[in-house]
Amino acid sequence: MAGLSLIDLHTHTNESDGSFSPAELIEEAVRTGVGALAITDHDTFAGYDEALPLACQAGVELVRGIELSTKLLDRSVHLLGYFPGHGDLEDFRAWVLDLQTSRRERNVRLAARLRELGMDIRVEEAEALGRGMTGRPHFARIMVQKGYVASIRQAFDDCLDESAKGYVYRREPHFTEGVRRIRAAGGVASLAHPTRLVGDVAALLPDLCAAGLNAIEAYHSDHTLADTDLYLGLAHRHALKVTGGSDFHGAFKPEVMLGTGRQGNLSIPREVLEQLAL
Ligand code: AMP
Ligand code: FE
Ligand code: FE
Ligand code: ZN
Repeated sequence: MAGLSLIDLHTHTNESDGSFSPAELIEEAVRTGVGALAITDHDTFAGYDEALPLACQAGVELVRGIELSTKLLDRSVHLLGYFPGHGDLEDFRAWVLDLQTSRRERNVRLAARLRELGMDIRVEEAEALGRGMTGRPHFARIMVQKGYVASIRQAFDDCLDESAKGYVYRREPHFTEGVRRIRAAGGVASLAHPTRLVGDVAALLPDLCAAGLNAIEAYHSDHTLADTDLYLGLAHRHALKVTGGSDFHGAFKPEVMLGTGRQGNLSIPREVLEQLAL
């Protein structure tokens, strides 16, 4: 084995929408040669907290991260937060718990809505799958299991998508608030997978930077080399830090490998980790 030479700053455990437990993710890091890892679960630190002692034992450097779902105008924007230092996260943690409360409250309404539409689905069933980060994908899986739809895709198209009949509203923080909270806690705020942003990233960036954004995810398993070059150029122009990761979700996205992305399309330079902490 080539030692733990790879880095990966965008990964999910089963505390959000990944399939690997925190322990399994650390094992996978060792197996695949990833020596530095950030866990960036959606709206929770639970996976990171659980993985930390295991990472120490395994000799894997673990960075505390999070991926926030935020709103910018009518867009949904994913925002990564990294906390490589020892900042005081008490306020930030309390805010994140608040987000979870609003998610739970939405899920109760979503289950009721699905029952209204004739499906026998209770919020507890979804929570058994998704626990602290239960969301629409878990409801979709139950809809498939119970035979109401043929696939996850169909569950969203017919029912759970924002434009579909079963959708119920969830309060999400504004992008600017997400950035402000991350920065106030001493973190680095990075624009996640910018290719998924609707609209021209180059044109939007000045406003995002004005809001306090200080990094961009230039390396990602969805990016072509041209995408990565584009974002490295934008990072340079706007004096942003660069982050990168596979967006590993385990068996839920089996084509994406930890550290190396899709068929080895990802190679994140070590400097990315070093400048994160500067
Ligand atoms: P939630 O945070 O519970 O509202 O669910 C959001 C998650 O649902 C996203 O992170 C996606 O993984 C998934 N999702 C949202 N829209 C779709 C869609 N149209 N098709 C498949 N998955 C979707
Ligand atoms: Fe995800
Ligand atoms: Fe994301
Ligand atoms: Zn992600």
